[in-house]
Amino acid sequence: MKVKVDRDLCIGAASCIALLPEVFELDEEGKAVIKRLQGDKTSDWTDYSNLSAEAQMILEAARSCPTNAIIIEDDNGKQIYP
Ligand code: SF4
Repeated sequence: MKVKVDRDLCIGAASCIALLPEVFELDEEGKAVIKRLQGDKTSDWTDYSNLSAEAQMILEAARSCPTNAIIIEDDNGKQIYP
């Protein structure tokens, strides 16, 4: 599974960060970025294996986003959320 932030949708509401500060933070533009275990922070697609969080928590963070800016796909590229 993999996750990304749609920066056009993100309004910096930070509920994802409140739920999962080990994965999400705001960058200098006030948009959410994903903290990777390896590699630079990014809003782009990041595999779950490169994150320090349970899959269920990532889904809950996505559900908490008021603008559905957190996108999740399975390994076959099928969108799981939203
Ligand atoms: S909850 Fe959504 S809108 Fe708020 S910072 Fe996270 S991705 Fe952006």
